[in-house]
Amino acid sequence: MVAPDTVRNVIIIGSGPAGYTAGLYTARAMLEPLMFAGYMSGGQLMLTSDIENFPGYPQGIGGPDMMLQLREQAERFGLEVQDKNVESVDLSTRPFAVTVEGEVFHAHALIVCTGAESIWLGAEGEAEQKGRGISTCATCDGAFFRDEEVIVVGGGDSAMEEATFLTRFASKVTLIHRRDVFRASQVMYDRAAAHPKIEIRPFRQVERWLSDEKGLTGAVLSDPRTGETEEIACTGAFIAIGHKPITAFLDGQLKTDEEGYLLHSQHTMTSVEGVFAAGDVVDTRYRQAITAAGMGCQAAIDAERWLEAQHD
Ligand code: NAP
Repeated sequence: MVAPDTVRNVIIIGSGPAGYTAGLYTARAMLEPLMFAGYMSGGQLMLTSDIENFPGYPQGIGGPDMMLQLREQAERFGLEVQDKNVESVDLSTRPFAVTVEGEVFHAHALIVCTGAESIWLGAEGEAEQKGRGISTCATCDGAFFRDEEVIVVGGGDSAMEEATFLTRFASKVTLIHRRDVFRASQVMYDRAAAHPKIEIRPFRQVERWLSDEKGLTGAVLSDPRTGETEEIACTGAFIAIGHKPITAFLDGQLKTDEEGYLLHSQHTMTSVEGVFAAGDVVDTRYRQAITAAGMGCQAAIDAERWLEAQHD
């Protein structure tokens, strides 16, 4: 165990596939990495049911199982993991300072792998019904809607995945999307579209949510082309309209694009020398477990080479 006041070679912030892979590589490079995994370690894949597209798992694997295995693998080589959230960082001087629950840690290099979090619609009545019928996670909340009618909002892979997963419980799943063009991959769209419990309704968006004292009862939907409205009954609603990067703790110290995703300057290094970033906090294009893991590997190798160059 490294003494708490030691300046670490590298601190990894975040614990999805990018973070754990960065942890595995830096640990195997004898850099004695420390990871702050967050209170909900494992990232978004902890909320995913089956991962079928990560090579090496011919039968697929559950998201939480994969995250536990990645963690175990990195810990075997000496990754130290603390399940705590980073409150802030100071990148103005080196070594960098990382504040966690009021305690300050120092590191020569940082690897930011904090991922992204769900976006909410923000429709009228939503805030009151969060956790009382409206959710962004079918894996977490789907089982509460056994034999009930639910809706899913969105037209990407997440929406298709949520809708398909919800057929295990719900009597009917209505997937609404604001256009008739879907970002979802064909295979996932086809799977949802072919399911007898799923009805896909394009050109529909939520105007407001309807509820009574027990919780959600439905929604007023509108057609964005005409403004016409209709009511739909549902006791559950799952919003799957994408994600935003988790960067608030950086307080604007790293350059981002206009949506807040971190920008790389050289390879996986960010706008501050010695700070690297990998996974969904950077990636606006691929956003897959396998690409995040690959980028975590790249960031670890870049950090290792950069640290080595500091001694030259
Ligand atoms: P996404 O592909 O960005 O799709 C977001 C969807 O939400 C789009 O259909 C978008 O509509 C809609 N949307 C956005 N804002 C909206 C609003 N305010 N009101 C109504 N609709 C709104 O996001 P995602 O589905 O979360 O997928 C993100 C990435 O993760 C993708 O690369 C995807 O392939 C990947 N992913 C993969 C899997 C898998 O392979 N198992 C599972 C889940 C996700 P418009 O199209 O009209 O903009």
